[in-house]
Amino acid sequence: MSSNLRIAIIGQSNFAADVLELILERSKFQVVGVFTIPDKGSREDVLATTAASHNIPVFKFASWRRKGVPLPEVLEQYRSVKAELNVLPFCSQFIPMEVIDGARLGSICYHPSILPRHRGASAISWTLIEGDEVAGFSIFWADDGLDTGPLLLQRQTNLEPTDTLDTIYKRFLYPEGVKAMGLAVDMVADGTAPKIVQTEVGATYDPAMFKVENQQICLAQSAVGIFNFVRGLDSVPGAVATVVLDDGTEEQVRLFGAHLYSAGPVKDGKALKLKGLAKPAWVHEGGLLIEGTDGAFVNVRRIKRGTKMINAGDWFKQAEHQPITDFSEDELAKKVQLASIWQAILKAPIEGATDFFAAGAGSMDVVRLVEEVKDAFDVPLENENVFMAPVFDEFFDQLVRNLRQGSGGAGGKQVEYKGFQLKANKRDIRVPTQLFINGEFVDAEKNRVLDIVNPTDETVLCEVACASVNDVDKAVQAAHKAFFGSWKQVSARQRGQLMLKLADLMEQYKEDLATIESVDSGAVYTLALKTHIGMSIDAWRYFAGWCDKIQGNTIPVNPARPNNVLTFTRKEPIGVCGLVTPWNYPLMMLSWKMAACIAAGNTCLIKPAQTCPLTALKFAELSVLAGFPPGVINVLPGKGSDAGQAVADHPLVRKLGFTGSTPIGKHIMKSCADSNLKKCSLELGGKSPLVIFADCDLDKAVKHGMSSVFFNKGENCIAAGRLFVEDRIHDEFVRRVLKDLRSMTIGDPLNRSTAHGPQNHKAHMDKLIEYCERGVAEGAKLVYGGCRVPNMKGYFFTPTVFTDVEDNMFIAQEESFGPIMIISKFNGSDVDSVMTRANRSEYGLASGVFTKDISKALSFADRIEAGTVFVNVYNKTDVAAPFGGFKQSGFGKDLGQEALNEYLKTKCVTIEY
Ligand code: NAP
Repeated sequence: MSSNLRIAIIGQSNFAADVLELILERSKFQVVGVFTIPDKGSREDVLATTAASHNIPVFKFASWRRKGVPLPEVLEQYRSVKAELNVLPFCSQFIPMEVIDGARLGSICYHPSILPRHRGASAISWTLIEGDEVAGFSIFWADDGLDTGPLLLQRQTNLEPTDTLDTIYKRFLYPEGVKAMGLAVDMVADGTAPKIVQTEVGATYDPAMFKVENQQICLAQSAVGIFNFVRGLDSVPGAVATVVLDDGTEEQVRLFGAHLYSAGPVKDGKALKLKGLAKPAWVHEGGLLIEGTDGAFVNVRRIKRGTKMINAGDWFKQAEHQPITDFSEDELAKKVQLASIWQAILKAPIEGATDFFAAGAGSMDVVRLVEEVKDAFDVPLENENVFMAPVFDEFFDQLVRNLRQGSGGAGGKQVEYKGFQLKANKRDIRVPTQLFINGEFVDAEKNRVLDIVNPTDETVLCEVACASVNDVDKAVQAAHKAFFGSWKQVSARQRGQLMLKLADLMEQYKEDLATIESVDSGAVYTLALKTHIGMSIDAWRYFAGWCDKIQGNTIPVNPARPNNVLTFTRKEPIGVCGLVTPWNYPLMMLSWKMAACIAAGNTCLIKPAQTCPLTALKFAELSVLAGFPPGVINVLPGKGSDAGQAVADHPLVRKLGFTGSTPIGKHIMKSCADSNLKKCSLELGGKSPLVIFADCDLDKAVKHGMSSVFFNKGENCIAAGRLFVEDRIHDEFVRRVLKDLRSMTIGDPLNRSTAHGPQNHKAHMDKLIEYCERGVAEGAKLVYGGCRVPNMKGYFFTPTVFTDVEDNMFIAQEESFGPIMIISKFNGSDVDSVMTRANRSEYGLASGVFTKDISKALSFADRIEAGTVFVNVYNKTDVAAPFGGFKQSGFGKDLGQEALNEYLKTKCVTIEY
């Protein structure tokens, strides 16, 4: 063994730097000089930096020879180090023979192919282009030919179908190559390094792919040939293809991310003409599909246009979003300022094509960039914006768009729509009246519309687009695409942030939303502010907090001895969810369902009730401002019988969240089963019992008893449909209720003193009148109301009280969904009977009990068959508490953690190790 072997390293790049470090780890070697390329601008090659940090003399030559003759001063400097062995790990320069043979032991050189195959500068590319089954590298003794010298050692690996130039280099040629160079130097020093003459059999000399003309892909070949060419140049420099645009002009692009595609021609693709390809290629959701001459297909996932990398499937969208060209002087001055911010962070000169991440930036640099840009230009910006536009010119383009848009630009954008101007409640509110599909407001098919009536004065407020079956399909397709596309890119935490932003916007616009709700559904404004809108905001905030806390479990299963087993579960979103809601709390019903659905990571479309869809449409506008990607939320006013039914029937909808009546719920469940066995949750009607014992706090019982029935004009699913009042206090209870009813203010719901507004729509009010007539006909005692409020325009129905109601009467069994109190007596000694009567209903939504006796209250809570039990209170719901019914009041919960599970599926993963 020769000790202290004097070595010169000739080369460049990280690979050479790693070889240098490896050689330096061996104390028996002395690296006497490093010869590398000159600095590029102020940037030094990493080999030079590494060598300098070890105090090794560094020589930087632009060239070793001129006109074929070695430069004497270069030779002299090389000879000055007195190297015994030259090591060339990666060298792009031509090294004269005087140097190659100038070391006593010669020169060893790394080459990334199994020589004699693929001699030349682009060996890895050709390994892939030619479809070799193995890739590898050679370390050979340099001679005066191109990669022809005798071999010292070789290593190889199988090429995987997923390999590209990048992956094969990173997973094998680089790490194994560095190690092998270390070994080769050892072998030379030990005198065990062979010199195996290369055969000329099987030798190839392949063209250099840094020449642009060689990067052009030939599309007139088999699918495999196209695939191999693209991956052979992926990611540098990228295979060049030429797109022939509609106007006949040509655009050169680069193709990346190719894979063979055996799923056959795509549906809904859009043709794109590529030069040299006989048939059109197809732009589709998953990329660009190219048919080879053998009829097989290659799919290309990404395309580089100029400096911008896009998803190939977005080709036609990108064509619509041309970069800005008309920068003002002020904007150009900002560009200089922006470049200096980038330069300070990246510590390198900035060009238009500088990629923030390729230049070495990490996540803290993203934060710094965002904060500095926000500070400098007073423009909203998110980390996400940097990831979306990492190249300097694109980033600047986006910054200018945000600056031109003013505040709000970075998160969401203003959205255009046809709408109407609602002037009410001293406000002037613009309300959209179109369908909201894929982030845009659009007319319904055939311009179908619904009349929206103000229940307070019976006038038509506006016309709203009425979705057809085809419109529903469009929304489902958009939601489906978003689910597998843009929405997947949004992390759980970002999802939560979007939801919080939306909640903040709802808060900001809460007076507008409450005014719309009041005018559209007849909700009393103060209640709308507190409950309809207030609880909607709470729901979005509550579920936003869940987004990044959706976790599975690790489960101790039986090991498969002698091996071990790890089993864990993942909670995954279901996909596209359809939501169908009723008219009693329009925005709140939307929010209860949609907030859980979105938090779980799904995309959705909602069909609100046809009578009052306006807050849902205003909400859609806010979702754009919040920055939700198109397709994640879709809002389609329309009729239950066609649009609602189409949601239940659609084969791409995987879950239906329904709130409404029991008969429609049953029908929907059948549709869910017949269509695609979609998961469904049903929040249905109720006939909730409220039992008031004589030992209660009577003041409280009257107050809550009133609100249990008359809250939101009785249009309340958990309304107490039947009051059982103990005989000892019955008359007093009724007397007090009637006293309060006589002083109840009925009138314009926008008036702050109003306690009772109009019913939601005429058909509903008419049904309430019929309901009362039936009660009277069956012998119940009507002690108050039972009719429309006399001499008043609008759908005002007088709050009503029936007493002496028998269990078998229609009004004792069926839900009124209106302000009708149904009272029966019971004897305090017969608690069992009252429990039996309270449970004698096919509904089981809510229930209540008033008593000061804790045992009675708990016994009631044990025995009652209802999803919600209120004790000494009523209507006390909260977004954190699960809500939903038993029996024919449906199944599945809204609100609370349990609601998330309605919109998640559990996947179980088992691993043996
Ligand atoms: P509904 O008639 O059942 O309607 C509910 C929703 O379903 C509406 O959007 C309706 O569209 C739609 N729809 C109707 N037919 C459909 C079909 N074939 N396929 C799909 N969707 C269809 O109920 P509602 O009268 O609006 O609401 C009152 C009922 O809701 C009451 O029974 C109440 O108890 C219940 N509710 C329950 C809860 C709860 O949490 N359990 C909460 C609130 C309300 P249209 O707008 O065209 O009718």
